[in-house]
Amino acid sequence: MIKFQNVTQRFADGTVALKDLSFTVEDGELVLITGPSGSGKTTVLNLLIKEYQPIAGEIFFDDLPLSKIKSNQLPLHRRKIGAVFQDYKLIEELNVWENIALPLLIQKENLLDIEERITDLLTLVELTDKALMFPKQLSGGEAQRISIARALATGPNVIFADEPTGNLDDRTSKHILDLLKKINQLGTTLIIATHDPIIIKETQSKRIDLTQPEAKSKKEADQPPVIQKKLNNSNETKKAKDQKKQDNKEKQSIKEGKTPEERTKTGKNNNQKIFQKFKKQLTQSKQQANALTQKLLKKKLKDDQSN
Ligand code: ADP
Ligand code: MG
Repeated sequence: MIKFQNVTQRFADGTVALKDLSFTVEDGELVLITGPSGSGKTTVLNLLIKEYQPIAGEIFFDDLPLSKIKSNQLPLHRRKIGAVFQDYKLIEELNVWENIALPLLIQKENLLDIEERITDLLTLVELTDKALMFPKQLSGGEAQRISIARALATGPNVIFADEPTGNLDDRTSKHILDLLKKINQLGTTLIIATHDPIIIKETQSKRIDLTQPEAKSKKEADQPPVIQKKLNNSNETKKAKDQKKQDNKEKQSIKEGKTPEERTKTGKNNNQKIFQKFKKQLTQSKQQANALTQKLLKKKLKDDQSN
């Protein structure tokens, strides 16, 4: 399903995040990606969603090389990968129900299907009673369960959980791990990037350890900059230039105060026009979600009264 083939990622400032990394993840598998902070775990996720391209090697998703995916096909590709983050990345202004609905609204799903899907997801993560709460009202464990429900909303082929227990205590971490394992057993391929000893101890599965001596030496100070080094290979030079352009754009969007989520959405074609369009879509979706919440609330009141 996923194949990394001799993938190297070096950023414009010379940081080598991954060096000659190869691994495969089969359909339905549970795979751990381990290694200390800075060993390149998040970079694996960013490469997988094509936030940027590797400077060498190729990544395949369902046999399709990611280098062949055009920018207009990116949303479709990213929908196949559900991401779960250490800091949950829930939208504070939206309640639980709306947070889960958002990816479905952006996808223009039919409202009845959305209601049904969210009920199923909230049942799965055992938080049906929190549907109308806001992220600030949730405990860390609850917020992570909601973020897992959101990641599952569009029916991705794979869930990539990036340090999912990084902000949680041991007992809650164990619950989150159990939930992720349950989702894997129900058929979704699962990748957990982690350095949490609890997850590692409690999970007997394939493990990709990024703690290599090469991965440890970060800045290759003695190496010439990427662009000069690759001058004798025009193809590689172009890649390096593109990478630099992308990195600059990334820096710019950080300066502009965009959230990582917004940066991921707009991705490589991070120009103002696309960003504006996305913002508009988000506002519309938010209005739709608000209307739906009102409807749900009314329904709940009616149900409560009739009980
Ligand atoms: P992990 O998730 O295992 O903590 P990361 O994948 O976030 O590691 O980072 C791997 C290395 O790459 C780190 O040294 C980090 O500082 C560096 N890195 C990550 N993203 C960038 C970037 N956009 N520009 C420069 N360096 C980066
Ligand atoms: Mg990380």
